[in-house]
Amino acid sequence: MRPGGFDAVDHRSAPLVMPDESWTAWGNALARATETQRADRLFSDPLAQCFVAAAGSEIPFLTAQETPPPRESTPPAGIMALIGDVIVIKTRFFDEYFHRVCAAGCRQVVVLAAGLDTRAFRLDWPAGVRLFEVDLPEVLEFKEQVLITQAARPACERIVVPADLRENWPTALRNEGFDVGHPTAWLAEGTLGCLTAVDCDRLLDEVNLLSGPSSWFALDHTHDGSVATPLLQPFFEGTGISLDEMVKGGPTDPADQWLIRHGWQSTAYDVVKQAAAYRRPTPVLFRGDRREQGNILFQAQRTT
Ligand code: SAM
Repeated sequence: MRPGGFDAVDHRSAPLVMPDESWTAWGNALARATETQRADRLFSDPLAQCFVAAAGSEIPFLTAQETPPPRESTPPAGIMALIGDVIVIKTRFFDEYFHRVCAAGCRQVVVLAAGLDTRAFRLDWPAGVRLFEVDLPEVLEFKEQVLITQAARPACERIVVPADLRENWPTALRNEGFDVGHPTAWLAEGTLGCLTAVDCDRLLDEVNLLSGPSSWFALDHTHDGSVATPLLQPFFEGTGISLDEMVKGGPTDPADQWLIRHGWQSTAYDVVKQAAAYRRPTPVLFRGDRREQGNILFQAQRTT
């Protein structure tokens, strides 16, 4: 039995070989799979459990028993106890973002560094929505294998774009039929921290060139990455994964200021208040000394 109680269902013929920066996608899937089992779940993501099960024993950092800490002051037992609750709050928050932008008329969506995100399958999209998922080829290949095994059917037009966000991903996106200049809802969930500040600036410049007037952008970012890295380090010792490859920091200024500098009108949201709005406790990462660091959720709209 895997941590979190998910049995391995290994239908792959070859070992799972991933770039170091991609393993975080399984952390997100595990958090969503665990949430899906709760009676009071904030969303339901049955495919997340399929991804975790398909990776079997090969998720390198999930070695400890994944149990939540019994009290706020108790150190977490495993990495999911440290970050799982934040992933759940973010997931619900960005689900609501897509409901809102679709209600405002958006029909073109791009999920940057989509990983094992299943919103194309689990959200109730209006007719005519085209959703592009961009991520590294290895992750999307694994994802497609599992989706095929599950005979999963998207609830919108879903277009997969295997591409590196440090390279010429806009051409790959356009080649797949992205409509340049059309109002677009972008999502970068767990994305900016995987890129350097320079790569993030370039990414946003490219998003700006592709976006139509009044496009939307939602993202999360913890700009004090230097604090988060020491917290994560113990979970990666002995796994062979380089945390430096996985966490590159992203923009060094708070993301709302970064977005405003690039021509977006941006609002920051406090993940602790968001958790309370969903009747959930303060996320473990934002207790005690880190309580004031909770402004990690952002929604923005193009000013032109
Ligand atoms: N957005 C997804 C979610 O919320 O579940 C995945 C987030 S996960 C924290 C980070 C994702 O970034 C991984 O799927 C990884 O493969 C992707 N990634 C990292 N570096 C990338 C790059 N240079 N180009 C494209 N994707 C990248």
